[in-house]
Amino acid sequence: MSIKGVIEARCPKGCEAFEAEIWSFIHGDKSPELREAVAAKECNLLVCPECQGLFFAEAPYIYFEPAADILAFVFPESFRAEEERWRRKMAEDFISLKKALGGKMPLDTEPELFFGLDDIAALLNAEAYRAEEVEVMEAVAAELGLCLYRVRRGFARRLGIPASLPYAPARKGEVVTRANMIAGLQKLLAANDRLTAYQSYLDGLRASAEQALPPARV
Ligand SMILES: [Zn+2]
Repeated sequence: MSIKGVIEARCPKGCEAFEAEIWSFIHGDKSPELREAVAAKECNLLVCPECQGLFFAEAPYIYFEPAADILAFVFPESFRAEEERWRRKMAEDFISLKKALGGKMPLDTEPELFFGLDDIAALLNAEAYRAEEVEVMEAVAAELGLCLYRVRRGFARRLGIPASLPYAPARKGEVVTRANMIAGLQKLLAANDRLTAYQSYLDGLRASAEQALPPARV
């Protein structure tokens, strides 16, 4: 679940400081409305009680979305000048967080450092776009009777490939192979040629005979 904290907020216009509640830990899977706020660059937006001006809290927060392998340490834009310092802080906090979350954190989740509003919002919006393409693909694959191979989300993101891939077993019960994945992708693209991420992945697979399949989601 998501957690709030209290900070002493200072309006950039120099008004009197005030106490404000902000989100310090956001669980994107469990709090979709907060995921939307981060994606819309509205998270931890405060209203000054004196001048009614809007400004963002000068406080870091953690954005966690285990289903997508996202663990983001988000620092205010003004912290960027001291990136190395905050990178060290992130490494320390990551160790404490791992202990606090116990087995709830996927073991291969890598923490990522963000500053300001734009980059974390861009990541979440790009993930939403990719998820839509996967949804369309899975609907087409179901119609065509193709099997699905689900890739670890963080791995797919780093490689820029779809997180769910179709394959066409040559006989019943055949496991996924490079060859039956190429066959599955060809059938998919023959039925729907707008799935551009799948065309790119097929081109890459064909271009390199040694290319191994990406690791499966567990
Ligand atoms: Zn103010």
